[in-house]
Amino acid sequence: MSASVDGPPPPTTIDLLITDTLLVTMDAQRRIICDGAIAVQGDSIVAVGKSHDLRARFQARTLIDGSRFVITPGLVNTHVHITGEPLTRGLAPDDLGWEELVFGWLVPAHMAHTEADERLSAQMAALEMLRSGTTSVLEAGTVRFLDPVMDGLGEIGIRARVGQWAWDFDPATQTYPGALTDETVSLLEDELSRYPAGAGQRVAAWPVIVGHMTCSDTLWQAAKALADRNGVGVAAHMSPATNDPDWFLARYGHRPLRHLSELGVLGPNVVLTHAVHLDTDEVALLAAARGCVSHCVTTALRGAYGAGAVGRFPEMQARGVTLTLGTDGNNDSNFHDMMRATHLLAGLYKDARQDPRLFPAEQAYECATLNGARALQLEHAIGSLEPGKKADFVAHDTHRPEWRPLFNVINQLVWSADGRGVHSVWVDGVRVVENYRCTTIDEDRLLAEAQRAGEAILARSGLTLRTRWPVT
Ligand SMILES: [Zn+2]
Repeated sequence: MSASVDGPPPPTTIDLLITDTLLVTMDAQRRIICDGAIAVQGDSIVAVGKSHDLRARFQARTLIDGSRFVITPGLVNTHVHITGEPLTRGLAPDDLGWEELVFGWLVPAHMAHTEADERLSAQMAALEMLRSGTTSVLEAGTVRFLDPVMDGLGEIGIRARVGQWAWDFDPATQTYPGALTDETVSLLEDELSRYPAGAGQRVAAWPVIVGHMTCSDTLWQAAKALADRNGVGVAAHMSPATNDPDWFLARYGHRPLRHLSELGVLGPNVVLTHAVHLDTDEVALLAAARGCVSHCVTTALRGAYGAGAVGRFPEMQARGVTLTLGTDGNNDSNFHDMMRATHLLAGLYKDARQDPRLFPAEQAYECATLNGARALQLEHAIGSLEPGKKADFVAHDTHRPEWRPLFNVINQLVWSADGRGVHSVWVDGVRVVENYRCTTIDEDRLLAEAQRAGEAILARSGLTLRTRWPVT
């Protein structure tokens, strides 16, 4: 063979190459690559490695000098009310018990939303998430107008799993009327058939049920069966406070997760949100089922749930429950910056148990990336920077005081930085945030519309803004 044939192969032409950067891969070895590079073709990562290697292998249509950045996988937020609360952010006082907050404030505000409000609301939530480094979200199940919400999410470009508001409890009779159950199961079937998750869909439906005590055994089992058949998961709220255990004990004589276990509806594709008030039996059942929990640390703090005092999250983590993070609603924790949530997870149990070994920064960061990906049933596609995975990643700007000096990048990500340092974000290979601005929508217009729509919702809801200090 001639020398020319033996030489290196010609470079492959690709869409994007970012070089000379610091990569936090979250791959199986958890490699952190200095002088790193990431190569993207279409919506996928094709290579991750040292800059000099990838420069030789690829010729890119867009070449970015990444020396200013730390690049991480996009964060995964597993519980966000993208409707109902983003347009009423901070309206509810911060000293309410759970029932007064939900039924006195959240539900009236939620019911005052129009279809256009819900689309706008979903985009506002997505904007806040994208701008702070979250690329994938599992919605919390309060959407009333699914189609405009899906349309709005599609436009802004976040990866999302969304379900319509679904429950079948009749508070007047304290029963689960069969007709309502049938109607709710039909609703779940319909949304799954219209928004399937197959073929790498960025936006797709899940059976997201309200949970607590609002869902019959039949609805739980139908949701789980539908999820299994469609390769997706089920999400539901459970046990933020003592209400749910008290209710299940009174009605069934056992606690909620014992009940769900006996129904056969726990599993790796079931994400239970909150799970603060579990006993040791419930933790064991959840671990045996390899279940997922969305821990909304920020909500627990604001809602005085007692996570630090009674939450068994360190035990869940140790026993193999897939522990993930959510930020809930804008009147429950009031922000969707997952970096702040990760920081709180890393700190809360160290303090509460007086044990600095709990939730080291690396483990907290896994909860926000790999564990979230597993919970969304997207472990094969997101959560780490590896060839073959979706090009969902975040460029953190190190030209900021909280980022310098930079020695231990994971300590920096969890303990020093927050989402305000997110410079750019890619989802499916599309740069949806560039130089601190969302590229897919007009941010100024969206923020102005959010203020107008929020004021109109407040007026229609009959709620009155309450402040402790005089507003003149
Ligand atoms: Zn919630």
